[in-house]
Amino acid sequence: MADPRTAHTPGPASREPDRASRPPEVDRAAASRRAVAARRERASLKRDVTMRVITPQELLRRALAEPESPAGAMRITEFLTSIPAIGEGKRDRILAQLGISPVKRLGGLGARQRVALERFLDQRWPELKPRRGRSRLVVLAGPTAVGKGTVAAHIKEHHPEILLSVSATTRAPRPGEVDGEHYFFVDDAEFDRLIADGELLEHATVHNRFRYGTPRGPIESALAEGRTVLLEIDLQGARQVRAAEPSATLVFLLPPSWDELVHRLVGRGTEGEEERDRRLKTAKVELAAQHEFDFAVVNDDVARAADEVASLTS
Ligand code: 5GP
Repeated sequence: MADPRTAHTPGPASREPDRASRPPEVDRAAASRRAVAARRERASLKRDVTMRVITPQELLRRALAEPESPAGAMRITEFLTSIPAIGEGKRDRILAQLGISPVKRLGGLGARQRVALERFLDQRWPELKPRRGRSRLVVLAGPTAVGKGTVAAHIKEHHPEILLSVSATTRAPRPGEVDGEHYFFVDDAEFDRLIADGELLEHATVHNRFRYGTPRGPIESALAEGRTVLLEIDLQGARQVRAAEPSATLVFLLPPSWDELVHRLVGRGTEGEEERDRRLKTAKVELAAQHEFDFAVVNDDVARAADEVASLTS
């Protein structure tokens, strides 16, 4: 029997193997840095689901494709509570109903559990289902600061067969902006006239400041010639186009992640806290509108996103 006085006080001989089996100091530091980075990535993915930048199904797909990834390492409990409208009580009922243990990680779900979870998600949070038959009238919208203007400009330059509609606006030109090319710069009286004469397909006051509208004439001529027309407009405008032309194709431009959108929105942090909160709240509401659209395109790279939007029009 071991001597109780010596059992917990190993001598020099027994201390050696113990030290050898432990990772050296540098490895442990690196491992802990990796753990912190993985936690941060999981937190970021959860925010993406909460803010509707990605669907729960998309996160699950990434987890199943790479069980070792941050998505794969996410606990089912964290995953479910990141979904808007699921609190802890509901989460536990869902887990019981699906027969999934709360300690499971997404990457470690069994085949039957995966199917049950996928079916459950598809019933509650239907993903965008592109409508059959594409229209040549395409609307590009999305949250503020997602980069719609840059993507539209890229399409204009690289896909000359697509007509980028030129809007009318009551705001003043910025340096470098040309009347008739970037916008038709008009005053309030002229904007009122355009509305009264039915010359605008849609119009809206954007950011509570200036009015913007899509002239109907050039679009109708281009469509009549068989050309594709792209409108880069705000959400209110997109909804009006849908109502006026139900067959129009609506494309929602998404940021690569919520964190990236926050960065683009409040980047330099020169605004006050109130303005910052207002912008983030607006972005959250805007992202929640994406289910009204036919397609979602991620603006992870301007050229790639522009090509994807252009491919939806052909
Ligand atoms: P900016 O003044 O920065 O050029 O544009 C501000 C916002 O107005 C952008 O979100 C842009 O999508 C939106 N916008 C530009 N033209 C139109 C338009 O014709 N109709 C609507 N509804 N929004 C527009």
